[in-house]
Amino acid sequence: MNPIAIVAAMHEELAALLAAMPDEHRVRVAGREFWLGHLHGQPVVAVLSRIGKVAAATTATVLLERFRARAIVFTGVAGGLAPNVAVGDVVVATRLLQHDLDASPIFPKYEVPLTGHARFATDTAISDALAAVTARLLRKPAALLGQTVVDDFGLAAPKLHRGLLVSGDRFVSTAAESAALRRDLPDALAVEMEGAAVAQVCHDYGVPFAAVRTISDRADDAAHADFTRFVAAVASRYSLALIDAWLRTLAVPA
Ligand code: SAH
Repeated sequence: MNPIAIVAAMHEELAALLAAMPDEHRVRVAGREFWLGHLHGQPVVAVLSRIGKVAAATTATVLLERFRARAIVFTGVAGGLAPNVAVGDVVVATRLLQHDLDASPIFPKYEVPLTGHARFATDTAISDALAAVTARLLRKPAALLGQTVVDDFGLAAPKLHRGLLVSGDRFVSTAAESAALRRDLPDALAVEMEGAAVAQVCHDYGVPFAAVRTISDRADDAAHADFTRFVAAVASRYSLALIDAWLRTLAVPA
């Protein structure tokens, strides 16, 4: 059976995933390392996307053309935009949009020219399943992270959100910039730099796509503080735990 692709945005997340794959081996394509193996009996290809929309699109294209991935799931971190989306919360995307794409007045702002879409939908079945396992994990964050990490980052009651994720080639790290995004896209839950590009590639190929992001910062002037520590202590553990729990729910191919 064709593999499920797990795309990680950060090295720490990929490392955690690879440690859980008993039989992984590496194939190099386009300067990237694609790791083939199994997790809970599922054929998996895991890869680091690198940062930004073009890097993510190249990665997705190789996953589909070369490795015939049957679905792509993106895990990583994002900056919270909506007022109630806090550090330590998790967003499972229902739709993704490129916030820095604007071919107006020829095409409506945000629309990907010639597709007729600005918002690309994720796969409902995969997203529902990811949301279900995430909700379960977030009920007891200390069980996964330890009480010290929960206290350090103030993660006592992390929430699951579902909705619009926006992507662009910019690390949003000023209050003014995130306020502008909130004004222009009031329903955006969080901002990152890859997801919408992968969603567009998957749309072109007709392959299911889902995205789940842990909120690492509020996309404001403090966005940089503790980023690295948060990724290692929180986001990479969430990623592995929820991908692991989701794969367990799938039927093992014969
Ligand atoms: N200092 C980090 C920078 C990574 S860029 C490092 O050393 O690696 C941020 C990454 O996390 C991108 O892959 C992006 O998808 C996501 N991200 C997290 N917070 C973000 C924000 N506020 N704006 C844009 N992307 C963000």
